[in-house]
Amino acid sequence: MTRIDGRIASVAQSPEDGTIRSVTLEDGREIAGDFFIDCSGFRGLLIEQTLKAGYTDWSRWLPCDRAVALPCASDAPKRAYTQAVALEAGWRFRIPLQHRIGNGYVYSSAFLDADNAETRLRGLLEGEALKEANHLRFLAGHGTRNWAANCVSVGLASGFIEPLESTSIYLIQAAITKLTELWPAHARDAPAARAFNRQMDLQYERIRDFIILHYQATQRDDSPLWRAVRETPPPDSLAERIALFREKGVVQDYREGLFQHPSWIAVLLGQHVTPARAHPLVAAEDPVRLRAGLQRMRDAIRRAADSLPTQDAYIARYCAAEAV
Ligand SMILES: Cc1cc2nc3c(=O)[nH]c(=O)nc-3n(C[C@H](O)[C@H](O)[C@H](O)COP(=O)(O)OP(=O)(O)OC[C@H]3O[C@@H](n4cnc5c(N)ncnc54)[C@H](O)[C@@H]3O)c2cc1C
Repeated sequence: MTRIDGRIASVAQSPEDGTIRSVTLEDGREIAGDFFIDCSGFRGLLIEQTLKAGYTDWSRWLPCDRAVALPCASDAPKRAYTQAVALEAGWRFRIPLQHRIGNGYVYSSAFLDADNAETRLRGLLEGEALKEANHLRFLAGHGTRNWAANCVSVGLASGFIEPLESTSIYLIQAAITKLTELWPAHARDAPAARAFNRQMDLQYERIRDFIILHYQATQRDDSPLWRAVRETPPPDSLAERIALFREKGVVQDYREGLFQHPSWIAVLLGQHVTPARAHPLVAAEDPVRLRAGLQRMRDAIRRAADSLPTQDAYIARYCAAEAV
């Protein structure tokens, strides 16, 4: 295997069937290939700019399309979790790292401009800002075909769902695993392309539904963004999942998809979506026995949590690092 480092200046396609024939680097070297993997980020240099495989826009459900990120100093004891907190035009994240806190405001440009988003975020910092603010733009959605002709897109070139549950690296891994399994036998392996696209569509759609749930089920109605997202009808697949849960507490697991029932239940109950009745098989159980079983689980979780070191103690013992 040969690794060639360089910037792609142009892409050549076969005049017969449009497949990608070669890429030419800025220094003039031409690299021909049978099959190409597009990892060029939001540019989608091969999949979109060259093959025009299309983009499915989900912004009607996920209107956040901007983010501003700004790390700050902190002396406070570290929390062992990231926080996502709703704000007027989106939500903010707080990620505690060893030597700083990563902060950001993910918002919708239809309801807030970049200057006001940065001012709002600066007002929430717990310590001195450590860098200039980094402003990012994106459009929620994914490539209509992640495998088109003799090219597969991976990572941001294949799509982006806002980072409320940090799913991008998972989707990169899922695409690599699927591509390895379906590795093309020749440049135009149509059955492999169809299988890859169907399975990556499912991965994306299921993550999309889980993220939309956070907005759909919100009780917040104190700003235009939150009123708009509450009032937008969800995709049918999500409406069905919510209805199943409301009816009798059922959350169905699936094979192609990141979030399983513990995640769905946490967000459904956390957003006050409650089942109307117990599942018939649960309702047939003795309630005293059920309650005792749940209490035992609660006690075991509490004992385990109480026995763990604090985040600061854990880091000091196992993985303390120099500031970078
Ligand atoms: C602040 C922040 C926090 C994040 N946190 C998380 C997280 O907690 N969990 C998670 O899953 N994801 C997270 N993400 C998202 C994740 O980091 C990205 O999804 C991932 O890095 C994308 O990788 P990528 O290779 O697809 O795209 P990129 O990292 O954008 O890489 C694209 C590459 O293509 C190159 N390129 C572009 N054009 C050309 C050209 N013409 N020729 C040659 N090369 C070219 C670029 O130089 C670049 O190196 C975060 C992102 C940010 C910004």
